[in-house]
Amino acid sequence: MLKSNNRIIIVGGGTAGIMAAGVAAASGAEVLVLEKMPRTLLKLGISGKGRCNITNTAPIPEFISHFGANGRFLRQAFHRFFSTELQTLLQQIGVRVTTERGGRVFPTSGKALDVVRALRRWAEKSGATILTGAGVDEMLVQDGRIVGVRCGGTDYSASRVILASGGASYPATGSSGEGYALAQRAGHHVIAPRPSLVPLISSDIDNGALNGLALRNVGVRMYVDGKKSADAFGELTFTPDGVAGPVILTLSLAAVDALQGGKKVRLEIDLKPALD
Ligand SMILES: Cc1cc2nc3c(=O)[nH]c(=O)nc-3n(C[C@H](O)[C@H](O)[C@H](O)COP(=O)(O)OP(=O)(O)OC[C@H]3O[C@@H](n4cnc5c(N)ncnc54)[C@H](O)[C@@H]3O)c2cc1C
Repeated sequence: MLKSNNRIIIVGGGTAGIMAAGVAAASGAEVLVLEKMPRTLLKLGISGKGRCNITNTAPIPEFISHFGANGRFLRQAFHRFFSTELQTLLQQIGVRVTTERGGRVFPTSGKALDVVRALRRWAEKSGATILTGAGVDEMLVQDGRIVGVRCGGTDYSASRVILASGGASYPATGSSGEGYALAQRAGHHVIAPRPSLVPLISSDIDNGALNGLALRNVGVRMYVDGKKSADAFGELTFTPDGVAGPVILTLSLAAVDALQGGKKVRLEIDLKPALD
């Protein structure tokens, strides 16, 4: 075992892992990031269609409302570090930001890769060591405590391990769901993940000539078992067998939960919604 009593190991060099690495290293901790892919921050690099929608200027309650029933879990963290702090940090490390329609914040250069480079440089300059091509196979548990990780046949000890291995949504960027198994084997209870921020499809729909049609400024009302459950306003696109676009992504978490609960979901599209 490679010993270090004060080391923080971060499993995964994605957005969360590199942010954690930068903050911990800047606070004086010895930090080792283990990233299984050949490069860190692959998903961040393709985010926002390559432009990276960094954050939004909406207030905390509005952010929380987008995270479903468990959104309150984020309140404490948001009060310590929210969108304003993120924008300040990015400006300090050389990323100028611009606010666009709907309070959406982007790098002024329009390039997600500028955010990637700046975060990586900041984490390393702050003192974090980043190993790529380093997939973590196991968390090491002793007397009910995590004491390190096993990575490519080598055991690394640590006083703290941060599991920042992402979700299961995009294996090509490294987020393939391995972290759930790592957490489970270390004794954590994992609630089965389900899709969110996704297009919706239906086996009953053949959009035919509507396929590819993009609509702006439409209202979409969602009914679950006949009762109105949510609504959203914005852009919508017809796909061959369903609907996509920002307005659908917003509603998708509630729709997936309802469908998995065996309920019927109906969407009503209002082409001329009344604006408040
Ligand atoms: C196409 C697309 C566009 C997006 N656009 C936006 C946007 O504009 N704005 C926005 O806010 N969000 C956007 N997102 C979402 C955003 O990218 C994610 O929320 C964010 O990257 C999640 O960060 P993370 O660190 O949790 O996970 P990830 O960024 O997925 O990082 C997890 C890391 O862990 C590594 N890893 C996994 N298992 C192991 C292991 N066993 N050992 C070592 N390393 C491991 C992975 O290789 C990966 O690098 C977008 C996502 C996608 C897919």
